[in-house]
Amino acid sequence: AKKMRLDKLLGHMGCGSRSEIKKWAKGGLIVVNGRVVKDSGLQVDPEHDEILLDGERIQYREHIYVMMHKPQGVISATEDVREQTVVDLLPEDIRHFEPFPVGRLDKDTEGLLLLTNDGKLAHELLSPKKHVPKTYFSIVEGEVGDDDVEAFRDGVTLDDGYETQPAALTILRHEQEEHRIYSHIELTITEGKFHQVKRMFEAVGKRVTYLKRLSMGTLKLDAALPLGQWRECSEDEIDQLR
Ligand code: URA
Repeated sequence: AKKMRLDKLLGHMGCGSRSEIKKWAKGGLIVVNGRVVKDSGLQVDPEHDEILLDGERIQYREHIYVMMHKPQGVISATEDVREQTVVDLLPEDIRHFEPFPVGRLDKDTEGLLLLTNDGKLAHELLSPKKHVPKTYFSIVEGEVGDDDVEAFRDGVTLDDGYETQPAALTILRHEQEEHRIYSHIELTITEGKFHQVKRMFEAVGKRVTYLKRLSMGTLKLDAALPLGQWRECSEDEIDQLR
């Protein structure tokens, strides 16, 4: 198996700085496969060696996968001088893995966002060739009807001339508020153009007033996850996504 330096491994797992780890090793706090290791530069096998720091087992892993229920008002970026980002919502022991959002949701869009440091998986999910379906719930001002369902199925022309791929629109219900009608809908698209859902409704003369992503490929927003909260994805969830 591939080996790596003990101090690099412990650093990656967020245990401490390289100099702290060196000090702990000298002090006899690090045990590898039952032996005290005083040299923090030792090459270890991250998958198979049993590593204890101050008696606590450190299980190495390279990747992190976070499901976030993104709230409105935060941007889908890793850092920003002005705005709060989705990564700012994560604690340091998770941020330490340098996760980034897989794709973007608008600042005013809520819902499912996957954050990971697994560049390969991110690339696969975002590749236009893979046509990963994304399902949104939306409230649209105006009366969305069967003509819109047909238009979205056939493809609509966005403001920049782009013709959208077939998309599945489901009308859930209509609501009247004051003198206006609002439509509750679900929409599944298999591409990810900038502001795509909003621009698709603009193309049929309607305006999105609320947008929430429900799923991305096989990954579904956990109904038990409150707005603004996150949890790590299960192994099953990630296996199915691949
Ligand atoms: N489509 C949009 O218009 N906005 C989003 O955030 C996601 C999809």
